[in-house]
Amino acid sequence: MDLVLSAADYYFFTPYVYPATWPEDDIFRQTISLLIVTNFGAYNLYFFFATLNYYFVYDHSLMKHPQFLKNQVYREIMHSVQSMPWISIPTVLLFLLEVRGYSKLYDGIGEFPSGWIHLIVSVLSFLFFTDMMIYWIHRGLHHRLLYKHLHKPHHIWKIPTPFASHAFHPMDGFLQSLPYHIYPFVFPLHKVVYLGLYIFVNVWTISIHDGDFRVPEILKPIINGSAHHTDHHMFFDYNYGQYFTLWDRIGGSFKNPSSFEGTGPLTYVKKMTEEECNSRAGNGCKNGKSFSGDFTKTE
Ligand SMILES: [Zn+2]
Ligand SMILES: [Zn+2]
Repeated sequence: MDLVLSAADYYFFTPYVYPATWPEDDIFRQTISLLIVTNFGAYNLYFFFATLNYYFVYDHSLMKHPQFLKNQVYREIMHSVQSMPWISIPTVLLFLLEVRGYSKLYDGIGEFPSGWIHLIVSVLSFLFFTDMMIYWIHRGLHHRLLYKHLHKPHHIWKIPTPFASHAFHPMDGFLQSLPYHIYPFVFPLHKVVYLGLYIFVNVWTISIHDGDFRVPEILKPIINGSAHHTDHHMFFDYNYGQYFTLWDRIGGSFKNPSSFEGTGPLTYVKKMTEEECNSRAGNGCKNGKSFSGDFTKTE
């Protein structure tokens, strides 16, 4: 985050916002700047990638599902927009520690003895570590003492859209993002790789809410994708994972997605539409076909 803060200081805050007498390394200045940068970045990442996904990946026929709520997309967006500033407060405190040099983030490849090899290993270990921690945090949030207070708002959406990806109670959102912040305090990680991974996890979170249930056959047993996470929204006690199915398998909560077995929400909508079509005659059937004509994705 110090790379982002330095760039923001250089191009924006120092020349246009703060008085020249306010040093860049003052802790109050850094806190205010980080709050602005974090919120600006979070909104931009969310709207840019969720909108792209909504228009180019998300299967809009899912909106015909009976469990899809009235005005759901608007409600998901409003929920996310209202949560993000609250999530940013504890997040900025961690960014502040990082900026002030308490993390194990490093700059140059040469700084670390094994250079490029460490860089690749750190990406894999970041994914493994955060996947494991998110699994247990997410599972903990389903405990009856926590669920209704913290995690229930994210389960309002039974058939989520990409805009549900950040629609959390602020504490839920922060707790589930905590592993991303803990990692660089425990393990050495390149600063640019960290930024790249931060963008990646945001895109991944959007992608598991996009209703695109296609996964390459060879990866189906390993990857926790949209098919798994949609089942999590529908059936609660299964598929808590983030990227991989590993911890669900270890923790006994793995469920083969209904979409892979031909009983998922897309199949439901398709059957519903066909029945509607069959129950009508002539013109009605024609109308039904135009609305069901986009069921091209493999469930
Ligand atoms: Zn959940
Ligand atoms: Zn979700």
